[in-house]
Amino acid sequence: MAIEKRTWAEPFKIKVVEAVRIPTPAEREKAILEAGYNTFLLRSDDVYIDLLTDSGTSAMSDRQWAAMMVGDEAYAGSRSFYRLESAVQQWFGYKYVVPAHQGRGAENLLSKALIKAGDIVPGNMYFTTTRLHQELAGGTFVDVIIPEAHDPKSLHPFKGDVDLGKLEEVIKTYGASRIPYISVAATVNLAGGQPISLGNMKAVGELAKRYGIRVILDAARVVENAYFIQKREPGCQERSIASIVKELCSYTDGCTMSAKKDPMVNIGGFLAVNDHAVYEDAANLAVIYEGLHTYGGMAGRDMEALATGIEESLHEDHIRARVGQVLYLGQKLIDAGIPIVQPIGGHGVFLDAKGFLPHVPQEQYPAQALAAALYLDSGIRSMERGIVSAGRNKETGENNKPKLELVRLTIPRRVYTQAHMDVVAESVEAVFSERAGIGGLRMTYEPKYLRFFQARFEPLGA
Ligand SMILES: *Cc1c(COP(=O)(O)O)cnc(C)c1O
Repeated sequence: MAIEKRTWAEPFKIKVVEAVRIPTPAEREKAILEAGYNTFLLRSDDVYIDLLTDSGTSAMSDRQWAAMMVGDEAYAGSRSFYRLESAVQQWFGYKYVVPAHQGRGAENLLSKALIKAGDIVPGNMYFTTTRLHQELAGGTFVDVIIPEAHDPKSLHPFKGDVDLGKLEEVIKTYGASRIPYISVAATVNLAGGQPISLGNMKAVGELAKRYGIRVILDAARVVENAYFIQKREPGCQERSIASIVKELCSYTDGCTMSAKKDPMVNIGGFLAVNDHAVYEDAANLAVIYEGLHTYGGMAGRDMEALATGIEESLHEDHIRARVGQVLYLGQKLIDAGIPIVQPIGGHGVFLDAKGFLPHVPQEQYPAQALAAALYLDSGIRSMERGIVSAGRNKETGENNKPKLELVRLTIPRRVYTQAHMDVVAESVEAVFSERAGIGGLRMTYEPKYLRFFQARFEPLGA
């Protein structure tokens, strides 16, 4: 068999290494207690394998590091900005670019530029920071994702798809004038890294155009989404990842980008739009919240690394190995009988905490408790994506109760090896075999905004 058809391996070799160490059981116990059972409050020195997030944690390439050396640190009109602008125009096809310090910076500019009090923003499942900025600008998010997205067992190949019927109903109920844009994510993080199909994106674009409404893409993981389209959508098997990404973007009027995800930089982001008036508003807001519109909170070297990272993220062998590693871990867990969200997503494996800990009611934060138990077992850090992340209803103050109660094992790009994935699978299996002994938690401190980052807990019965 030709080598191209045999087992894949990472399309890189390792030039620099960073030591990691396994904290002792006593150290782990002390650390999780001090962190209030919240993995966001652990110190990274107390972590062995860090699967908290793939955000800003990917490994940059030698080409990205080299690009940083030629960054132009001019306050205004930096050459590095124009290089970034060209990369966004070339690979995503949008006309105007406003850099931002990271994704939520771009979300703030977009929300402030487009949303007025009383507006409605439909989208394919909420994302924490995205929805908060929509709400702070006076809008209300309405979920229009297909129902399969809320079912961890559904094997629908495109669980990120928009329910077109539901979307049209929302438009008819509130009227197009109250809908500044439709917020479409590719892939959907809180559904478990699930993709939207090219066909659905096209249909959303056409529906929006009929009603004169904009579509704004959350492009943080659009390349991973394109990989699933190439693998699963009829007629796309021979297409390049780059051409699928460009077509996805073509059905939208702009995007917010957290460049800490697919484009593999440690910090950065941007807003890109086709409408010059929106660009002008956002560029003007940028000078208040981010920095001048030609750097937006990024150093010149950051913009260089980002421009290079965008191009590298579109390489076929890169994305195949990136998603391949996630599928490798997920398949191991499926084979071991662990309840996870299926199909396996693009950036991580999501444990189904309701299936894992059926004896812990949602009010006792099963996903939070499971993330803490996994850390105690092996020093592996994961993240809650359930009732804590979902926060409270902005009108009633009641807890939002998401159908999905998940623990995310997020894989940074180009950082860990297959042997690390084996260690993770072993630890999840060990915790699964002792799951009956894992109890719920009580929240002892709740911050007002995005509570999952800083909330504190203690074991019930402690
Ligand atoms: C990370 C993320 C954001 C926010 O970006 P930051 O860079 O963390 O501010 C927005 N949307 C999605 C889907 C994300 O994963």
